[in-house]
Amino acid sequence: MTRVYNFSAGPAALPEEVLSQARDEMLDWHGAGMSVMEMSHRGKEFMSIAAEAEADLRQLMAIPDNYKVLFLQGGASAQFAMVPLNLIGSTGKADYLRTGSWSKKAIAEGKRYGEVRVTADSEQDGRFTSVPAADALGLNGDAAYVHYTPNETIEGVEFPYVPDTGDIPLVADMSSTILSRPIDVSRFGIIYAGAQKNIGPAGLTIAIVRDDLIGKALETTPTMFKYDIHAAAGSMYNTPPTYGWYLAGLVFKWLQGKGGLAGMAEINQRKAKALYDAIDASDFYHNPVDPACRSWMNVPFTLADAELDATFLSQAAEAGLKTLKGHRSVGGMRASIYNAMPEAGVKALIDFMAEFERSHG
Ligand SMILES: *Cc1c(COP(=O)(O)O)cnc(C)c1O
Repeated sequence: MTRVYNFSAGPAALPEEVLSQARDEMLDWHGAGMSVMEMSHRGKEFMSIAAEAEADLRQLMAIPDNYKVLFLQGGASAQFAMVPLNLIGSTGKADYLRTGSWSKKAIAEGKRYGEVRVTADSEQDGRFTSVPAADALGLNGDAAYVHYTPNETIEGVEFPYVPDTGDIPLVADMSSTILSRPIDVSRFGIIYAGAQKNIGPAGLTIAIVRDDLIGKALETTPTMFKYDIHAAAGSMYNTPPTYGWYLAGLVFKWLQGKGGLAGMAEINQRKAKALYDAIDASDFYHNPVDPACRSWMNVPFTLADAELDATFLSQAAEAGLKTLKGHRSVGGMRASIYNAMPEAGVKALIDFMAEFERSHG
């Protein structure tokens, strides 16, 4: 068996230790005589898996007691609707920061449910390569909430600060940056993330919701889209994504073994710095993002000659470095280096890039 270094933006690589443990427990979980996939979500075995995963996530992120942790389906994209459906009712208005492809999608969906105002927009000449300054967010006092995307997965642009919204709840789509470093959860009203980047397999979505924001959904909100329904049922109003929940729990334990989020942050910072340093030191590779806003998780880069892209990708794949093709809207390459990408994988990529530059530059 050969495992490659998978730089996919999502679904993304999972820690090999987690996959091995899942394999070992696949047919018979802890003597239950069945796989986690086959268990009743209301049985005592799965209830214990679910409770332990939530407790571990609360410990890792230091989630205060006045927040619910919801294990949902529908992906981050469902949250683009769920957030306005549950929150916008108080004033009918919400402020959004527009910083890349994913915030654009959140804005488009939000507009279906109320008055969405784009109060800051970092698009320049059709591209997103930075974020608005902290003192230039243009926020309104009557917003029901402020929505932003801390890490724009496609453009590789990240906020180097948490917006200060005063008493107005701050909502963050953390799909591609959750668990990459410690954060102060109390700064946020809602944090949500699709699991398939930095948590576990696709199909699970985590929403961390402050208690006072629960129970305010618009009248017509579908039952499955109401935070209060899921909160009251402990995310078991209907069948939750049980296997994804279990696998996320294994990832949380793995993170605890890495020194928690502080330990993970050190590793992530080293990985990102090594890759950006290599790009910046070369005239052959280029990253267009403002250095202050460069993502730790998604590193887009172009080659001096786009004609070489296909050769780069095929030779990288032969060297065991997969899924480096950039998003079609940005072009070039993108290396996603989430928690599960080991430092050795980043080093292998940097070595390959140097060798490719020597032979083609
Ligand atoms: C991947 C991603 C999404 C979309 O997630 P789905 O779970 O596929 O809906 C949304 N926002 C960000 C920031 C992402 O990285």
